[in-house]
Amino acid sequence: MNKPFIPVSYPDLTGGNERKYLLDCFDSSWISSKGEYIRKFEYNFAKYIGVRFGVATSNGTTALHLAISALGLGKGDEVIVPNLTFVASANVVRYTGAKPVFVDVEKETWGMDPTTVEKAITKRTKAVMPVHLYGQPAAMGKLIDIANKHNLSIIEDAAEAHGAQVRIKDQESRIKRYKWRKVGSLGKAGCFSFYGNKIITTGEGGMVVTDDEKLAQKMRILRDHGQNPKKRYYHDVVGFNYRMTNMQAAIGMAQFERIEKLIVKKREIARCYEKYLKGINGIFLAPKLHWSKSVYWMYSVLIDSPYPKTRDEMMIILQKENIETRPFFYPVSKLPPYKQSGDFAQSIYLSAHGINLPSGTTLSEDDIKRVAKVFQKYQ
Ligand SMILES: *Cc1c(COP(=O)(O)O)cnc(C)c1O
Repeated sequence: MNKPFIPVSYPDLTGGNERKYLLDCFDSSWISSKGEYIRKFEYNFAKYIGVRFGVATSNGTTALHLAISALGLGKGDEVIVPNLTFVASANVVRYTGAKPVFVDVEKETWGMDPTTVEKAITKRTKAVMPVHLYGQPAAMGKLIDIANKHNLSIIEDAAEAHGAQVRIKDQESRIKRYKWRKVGSLGKAGCFSFYGNKIITTGEGGMVVTDDEKLAQKMRILRDHGQNPKKRYYHDVVGFNYRMTNMQAAIGMAQFERIEKLIVKKREIARCYEKYLKGINGIFLAPKLHWSKSVYWMYSVLIDSPYPKTRDEMMIILQKENIETRPFFYPVSKLPPYKQSGDFAQSIYLSAHGINLPSGTTLSEDDIKRVAKVFQKYQ
């Protein structure tokens, strides 16, 4: 008899207004990219992150591309990107004609290593793109200092980290004071994805948030074919169609109403995994740092000796138990379109040893126990 399947993640669409708002679009026939839900979703999500403007897009990749396009990046420019990330972070830089320059990540956060960033800066460097991997914020305090010192824009890829927070220096305060800020609000622009498995979802969807009104305006124009907002069918620049539909925004708004609950659930899942996996030799738990609050998009661990099985062996063993997992991303510098040499020891290590465990928000403690039992069996 097969045990029930535990997927690595799945959208959690019940328990809120998702169905109601979606049907509202349908019944009122506001199904395209005009409609109230878009404005509402943009306004509320940006406010939640802690900035003034939200520009909703068709997905997280177009959000990133829109942000760096609006900054005017292109041929001859360089953008520093962590070597351990989903490929979209690098692709969007390439779309503009600019060059993604990869840097290693830190053992502590699994995110961009500030010391490697300093070394990678050249005259051509225009922007830095920290990625908050699997929900854990990168070392933003140090990265902001470096970006300020070298006059670089920070574009956060917060696709996996809606609601995650970092404690950073208050830039406005003259005395040294710290405050908690949400990721996505820490640079020039923050980009989010609402893909089906992200913290909140719209099916496909994304958003750029920013405090910069001019940048927001520019992104709105570029999102809509570069059309002059005062002159229909007059296009000052080459733009895109990166709009979100009202139906996506309707689901997004309903998901947004539950975002805090979903994050609490992710953190409970993390705590539960910690409880059952702690103390197993060779299983190294996800980062937990006093200056950050992860949202644990995917609860992840590293598997290394003295644990008797490798990451790849464990994935097969878990699969046989009807438990789905994912390996960490490949280092981008090893992918055919991006072959780059450099010292990428940490990204290579994490990529080979990291595993994403089931992290869907309707997971029960018994499900987690079942996963943990498989790990305990070989300890
Ligand atoms: C999901 C994701 C994206 C892309 O988002 P899509 O909505 O799938 O286009 C970009 N960067 C990271 C780190 C992601 O996890």
